[in-house]
Amino acid sequence: MKKIDIQKELNIKPVKIYKEVLDPDMVYIPVSSGANINNTYVYKDSVIDGVSLPISGFIVNKVLIKNREYYCISNDFKELSLNQTREPLNRDYMTTRLPNLDKIFTSNIKSLYINTIDQDPYIFNKYFMLKNDAEKIINTIEILINTMNLDSVYLVVVSQNEELISEYLNNTTTNRLKLKIVNNYYPIGNPKVLESELNLDSNSKLVDLEYILKIYKTILKRQSLTEKNITINGNALEEGVTLKVKLYTKLSDYFKYIKIKESNYEIILNNSLCGPKVREDMIITSNLEGVIINKVVDEESSPCIYCGLCNLVCPMHINPLKRNSKCINCGLCNFVCPSKIRNSGDSNE
Ligand code: SF4
Ligand code: SF4
Repeated sequence: MKKIDIQKELNIKPVKIYKEVLDPDMVYIPVSSGANINNTYVYKDSVIDGVSLPISGFIVNKVLIKNREYYCISNDFKELSLNQTREPLNRDYMTTRLPNLDKIFTSNIKSLYINTIDQDPYIFNKYFMLKNDAEKIINTIEILINTMNLDSVYLVVVSQNEELISEYLNNTTTNRLKLKIVNNYYPIGNPKVLESELNLDSNSKLVDLEYILKIYKTILKRQSLTEKNITINGNALEEGVTLKVKLYTKLSDYFKYIKIKESNYEIILNNSLCGPKVREDMIITSNLEGVIINKVVDEESSPCIYCGLCNLVCPMHINPLKRNSKCINCGLCNFVCPSKIRNSGDSNE
């Protein structure tokens, strides 16, 4: 398999601007039950239609966004929460708070690998978690080592981020936390690709860095995870930004932090090579990693010349001309194709 470092090829520099924007005027919770709860006061971390609320305030009305109904909650900026549990931090309590912990940490799991690599070359969410959340990450890893009986925990980082985590080893008392450095190529941040790169055995498990912070928030802090990093970046912008935002806010609320320098641009969700095109009024959920705002390039495709390049780069070792369920929609086959054939992705949301 031919490995390509897209960040290097497209000269994409790390985002420099990071901001926490955690005081939205309004959040939008998807309606599923249809209950009429207008004018109800709701607390942060309470649950409506399966969603833990990121703020406290009154439900003021319902709105339709892209044919979906949402409760609008007006923020009272008090962050009032009724969640005051103080159970001891043992395995039973932890698995009650996060039921899938038991599935991840089965009794045979002795080594934990933490994926700290962003999936798209334009997105820097985990880069800023590594940079800003060292204490929380180390704290959580130490708890996991003790409660889950782990022999070792590896932070898996790409070589250019190695210096970001030098302090991790200096600031922990455990010698079971280790670094695992891998070369940067696309899409090494994808869990399936990384698992195969690491060649994990049955006693090892790979989890995402965001999951470690979820454990920190839900178990160590006894709150719900109601915020996340998103990146707005791309070649149509003066400069990209990574923002920590509340879930269930509107993406358009954050466009004031960027400057678009092109008139003809497209907004692509999560994956710059083949993600769907979206509108800026979309609501931020946990699946949104960021949007890439790129210049529209009008490229005419021409017939396949059977050069085999797409085949050569496919990280899942499948033939992109005959994609099957193993395809991870990375879009690398699109990127290398000299005939500009789009083998994957590209639908509109
Ligand atoms: S076929 Fe799928 S996995 Fe392979 S390069 Fe194309 S998008 Fe990626
Ligand atoms: S890279 Fe493009 S032109 Fe070459 S074999 Fe694949 S689809 Fe055909």
